[in-house]
Amino acid sequence: MRIVISEFMDEAAVHTLRQRFGPDAIHYDANLVDNPAALAAAVADCDAFIVRNRTQVRGALLAACGKVKVIGRLGVGLDNIDVPACEARGIRVIPATGANALAVAEYVIGTAMLLRRASYLSTAEVIAGKWPRNKLSAGRETAGAVMGLIGFGSIGQLTARLARALGMHVIAYDPALPATHTAWQDIGVQPKTLEQITTEADVISLHVPLLDATRNLFDANRIAAMKPGAVLINTSRGGIIDEAAVVAALKLGSLGGAALDVFTQEPLPATADWADCPNLVLTPHIAGVSFEANIRVSSMIAAAVIDALK
Ligand code: NAD
Repeated sequence: MRIVISEFMDEAAVHTLRQRFGPDAIHYDANLVDNPAALAAAVADCDAFIVRNRTQVRGALLAACGKVKVIGRLGVGLDNIDVPACEARGIRVIPATGANALAVAEYVIGTAMLLRRASYLSTAEVIAGKWPRNKLSAGRETAGAVMGLIGFGSIGQLTARLARALGMHVIAYDPALPATHTAWQDIGVQPKTLEQITTEADVISLHVPLLDATRNLFDANRIAAMKPGAVLINTSRGGIIDEAAVVAALKLGSLGGAALDVFTQEPLPATADWADCPNLVLTPHIAGVSFEANIRVSSMIAAAVIDALK
């Protein structure tokens, strides 16, 4: 039995796999993803392949996975894995469903509060003796504001619970979840149309997969239709919002703030486009990555791979 791990995995979970299958059975190299030739050679005789989101399991690499029975994904999005092609080859693909949802939900609440209050980024001015008190005195509180969620699945629902605990009114749009589903009532969220969320929410947060139906969902027109001064948060996938339209709306002042963790192209190439945008938080796809989530995700996938190889 051999297992190849091509990206970062929590050491305790790697240890569990070594204990179960023997130290020589585990090929763990957090940077293997960056060496395509070595990666293709490594997967050629392995039974399980564990990846995060950078390893593209498709085409030539998938063809090299001659004996692989199971692919463990240290995260939830499966857009870096050709799932139909895996299924056609009889390979099971197992995501770490739910294991990093809390990290993402806390990121959404944290950035929503930061962007609405717009008062936490004054360190340089305070150090410089500028004391920008007047400029920062119109920040908005979180309680009573409307949180609009696009996608009411695992992360959307957890975000809603946290938002409700802060006194926010939560509305959500999810065409796959019937209005009779218990989650709406259990969490206290009102189902609405996409148009209603767009025009009624003070904070809009996206929690959908990247599909044809969601690509460019928040384009220039939809961003322009948002409530003046509202805040847009995207932790789902790049390509769902039009990044150039966010830049333009922030500079215009129609959009009150934005937090983006995911981008059409990752890593985001160095660019001046985002410079001078007010009230903007950009992060390198880490909303779901926290100390605790790393442990949960890795231990869940180690257990699932052990089970799948029985
Ligand atoms: P999920 O599958 O539990 O929920 C997604 C929801 O989106 C489903 O309820 C589905 O019905 C709904 N949906 C599908 N198409 C829709 C549409 N057109 N309009 C509205 N709703 C639609 O997924 P999840 O675990 O909640 O993850 C949500 C997103 O977050 C995914 O894109 C995932 O890849 C991403 N994610 C990002 C990070 C990160 O670090 N930034 C971490 C984890 C997950």
